[in-house]
Amino acid sequence: MASDVLVLGGGFAGLSCAAALADKGAKVLLLDKKPHLGGRAFSFPDQELGAVDNGQHLFMGCYAATRRFLRLIGAEENLDVSEEIAVDYAEPGGRRDRLACPAWLPAPLHLAAGLLGLKGVCWRDKAALLAFDQALRALKTGAVPDAVEAMTARRWLTSLGLSSNFQARFFDPLVIGALNERPEIASAAGLVQVLRAIFSSREASRFGLSRVGLSELYVDAAKNSIEKRGGRIIPSAKAAALIEDGQCVRGAVSDRGERFPAQTVVSTLPPWDLSRLELPAALRGPWETLAPAPIVGATLRLDRPVMRERFIGLLGAETHWVFNKSRIHGLSGDGQILSVVISGAHDQIAYSPRAILDAMLRDLSACLPDFAKANVTAWKVIKEPFATISPAPGAEAKRPEPGSGMPGFLFAGDWTRTGLPATIESACVSGFAAARRIAA
Ligand SMILES: Cc1cc2nc3c(=O)[nH]c(=O)nc-3n(C[C@H](O)[C@H](O)[C@H](O)COP(=O)(O)OP(=O)(O)OC[C@H]3O[C@@H](n4cnc5c(N)ncnc54)[C@H](O)[C@@H]3O)c2cc1C
Repeated sequence: MASDVLVLGGGFAGLSCAAALADKGAKVLLLDKKPHLGGRAFSFPDQELGAVDNGQHLFMGCYAATRRFLRLIGAEENLDVSEEIAVDYAEPGGRRDRLACPAWLPAPLHLAAGLLGLKGVCWRDKAALLAFDQALRALKTGAVPDAVEAMTARRWLTSLGLSSNFQARFFDPLVIGALNERPEIASAAGLVQVLRAIFSSREASRFGLSRVGLSELYVDAAKNSIEKRGGRIIPSAKAAALIEDGQCVRGAVSDRGERFPAQTVVSTLPPWDLSRLELPAALRGPWETLAPAPIVGATLRLDRPVMRERFIGLLGAETHWVFNKSRIHGLSGDGQILSVVISGAHDQIAYSPRAILDAMLRDLSACLPDFAKANVTAWKVIKEPFATISPAPGAEAKRPEPGSGMPGFLFAGDWTRTGLPATIESACVSGFAAARRIAA
């Protein structure tokens, strides 16, 4: 029997879309090619390391759609959004710095105060914040002008008079963390999207972390919520083609030839997966040339604790971030579990797991004095070559609007043009947008 809606893909976008539709009483069927749900944000149990994420994920207070999705499926308490807005940095030699945003100041003054308080940036360099503030006010709402979209983040920041030291100590970690590309590759438009989001309110610039493994955070709760409302989920079902009926899409066919008729299909597949399907000519377009950007990560078990903070940004190192999983997951015991991240990892993705680990160990030993004394008793490196789309200049124009497509077919997924970088929040915004379009 035909479904009302066939959702392709069971990551944040597909599950948020299916949960919202099921909640409105639609007959939903969701397919995913993998045996497990969660897409690019999942975890698995490891005997020595506990719940291992496919890569550490950081949430922000501005992730309103994500929080709405977690609320809808009854899983919001799994997300720990910290009151304190602070980021600690460490660099080779063990020197430390801290971006601390005072709790009593309203946005965006809290961030301005945090930036003015950075020890490693001199006052002459900080004076450039005035030009930066003016530029950001001019770009506060609406489409990012073509001239800015055509620039890289590096060129834009330099054009505002921000010194290379200031960029390296605050803006570069922000760009690489939020856009998954170095500022020499990422577009200024992507950075503007991030800045608009985090500067919008105090709440928006808070940091959130999952108290549990990523799959435990949302996968089972979403599945239960969808199924309880009469929806169906079929794992290990790979869509291979769409069913066409005149000028309309009316379902999909799996690679095993199984037909899944539906009134409407919502695709949340990443562009490189979607373009492999047999698609109507009307759906083909520039989005097919969106390129991926990789992330490599590692989970380490140490024989002793080496950090107290929830996470630390590493400056002047190949490794970008280290997260204290023991604290984040509330684990007891003598040792410590860390999660280590290199984003925009175009070079490292070709390294062997051992070579990635060695690069991370070198950086951690150089930046965290206690790390040099610790022993790594277990480790796992995960390479994600297709972590996000690469937000290079020109990419924004190739992203189709979420909910656009053709009769019977809607695009969704983190990579659609949500006004946000390709993140969990973008995925949920797109999922809800597609659901809203169908309900309307
Ligand atoms: C290592 C790593 C770290 C990250 N860190 C962060 C972070 O800190 N903060 C943040 O916000 N975001 C982060 N991201 C990005 C975030 O994970 C993604 O933006 C988000 O998970 C995308 O969700 P989605 O539902 O749009 O796509 P996906 O999760 O990719 O879901 C698409 C689904 O479609 C399925 N599929 C593909 N082809 C087919 C087919 N033919 N038929 C059926 N099913 C198919 C896939 O199996 C997949 O489950 C990170 C990503 C990675 C990989």
